[in-house]
Amino acid sequence: MEFLPLFHNLRGSRVLVVGGGEIALRKSRLLADAGAVLRVVAPAIEPQLCELVNSSGGEQVLRGYVEADLDGCVLIIAATDDEPLNAQVSADAHRRCVPVNVVDAPALCSVIFPAIVDRSPLIVAVSSGGDAPVLARLIRAKIETWIPSTYGQLAGLAARFRTQVKHLFPDVQQRRGFWEDVFQGPIADRQLAGQGAEAERLLQAKIAGEAAQTTGEVYLVGAGPGDPDLLTFRALRLMQQADVVLYDRLVAPAILELCRRDAERIYVGKRRADHAVPQDQINQQLVDLAKQGKRVVRLKGGDPFIFGRGGEEIEELAAHGIPFQVVPGITAASGCAAYAGIPLTHRDYAQSVRFVTGHLKDGTSNLPWNDLVAPAQTLVFYMGLIGLPIICEQLIAHGRSADTPAALIQQGTTSNQRVFTGTLKDLPTLVAEHEVHAPTLVIVGEVVLLRQKLAWFEGAQSQV
Ligand code: SAH
Repeated sequence: MEFLPLFHNLRGSRVLVVGGGEIALRKSRLLADAGAVLRVVAPAIEPQLCELVNSSGGEQVLRGYVEADLDGCVLIIAATDDEPLNAQVSADAHRRCVPVNVVDAPALCSVIFPAIVDRSPLIVAVSSGGDAPVLARLIRAKIETWIPSTYGQLAGLAARFRTQVKHLFPDVQQRRGFWEDVFQGPIADRQLAGQGAEAERLLQAKIAGEAAQTTGEVYLVGAGPGDPDLLTFRALRLMQQADVVLYDRLVAPAILELCRRDAERIYVGKRRADHAVPQDQINQQLVDLAKQGKRVVRLKGGDPFIFGRGGEEIEELAAHGIPFQVVPGITAASGCAAYAGIPLTHRDYAQSVRFVTGHLKDGTSNLPWNDLVAPAQTLVFYMGLIGLPIICEQLIAHGRSADTPAALIQQGTTSNQRVFTGTLKDLPTLVAEHEVHAPTLVIVGEVVLLRQKLAWFEGAQSQV
């Protein structure tokens, strides 16, 4: 970064402007807007500039520049068309360690003027470090159209309630959450629509409501199967507002990256039969964090309500009266099927699809094998890798053909996706041969054949 952007409070401070022409006038206008007291030094000064100097409570000095003109000034502007003189002013200011700007000579400047979008008290400053001021001005023009002029009023509204809200929420995170709600919700909508009085009434009501209740909220967010592009807009919005994020092993690092940068991140991942954090502890943690007033995102792979224990977590939240929202995600079956080119249903091959847990509790007894072998049905096994030999064996024993097509999709939708296809009888061998590991989804059914038929997909697949 060539220049550090800072916003300078000039109110009541003396600023020296060397030069009395058009350019000096332009800079002086900005300085006067910021409340500076102007000292303009030049052999001749434009009438408009004289007026500006007078209204700023400053002084006109009708002669050539001398170094003593710098005395008592907090900022120096050289705005003459005399290059040696500009260089002299710059050198004097540098020697005294006073910030100096020389118009159109970035090399002589210690500070530069950005292009400004003024929606006071909201200010946007754009700079190209003096290298491409036209580009900075074009960007400013874009921002001008993008930020409605009423944004300034919105900031004004916030300013009027700032102290009150600060007392209400001594904790900075809670305060930030409050203002994020205000700026992204109906209060901002009203203010931006020009209904300032209504916005103010709503804000007062919100403050009164918060004073009565400062419990946080839990968002159970489905993060999808891995590709960050598969997040929903709502998931992303809540992830960017979160104070704390509790995440699983299944949540890809690229997705975690999209959470608010300074949100606290807590890993509560579990592996099959190796529960890193027991479920009841996770439930308790969600409750505790929300009771501290935090906005908690519980980020889960796929969809929270499909083999995600989302149901258990919200039961606990409801029991403690903690507000929550559930954001659906793309489940592994949908994601993996799409990225592997296997339609889960097809009029010719499968009229239904069944999502089955492959986590066999006590050997083989807990799955309804007779239902699972029904014809024209696609089976999708989650967590099926360890139990796979038993699953294949039982399906065949209960009457599903040993030649039924089947697929293994490892780390589906991610750049590490691997897909292996075969039949029910050789699936376990495929796992051993290719060292397939979790997370892997198993799809069983005639629809798997369509992967080969959809030859175009191979090309698309390699780009995944
Ligand atoms: N709630 C999740 C599922 C959690 S169970 C969802 O809706 O997707 C965990 C199992 O999901 C894993 O054992 C694996 O079978 C499957 N899974 C999740 N993500 C996967 C991925 N990217 N690729 C393959 N399988 C995945």
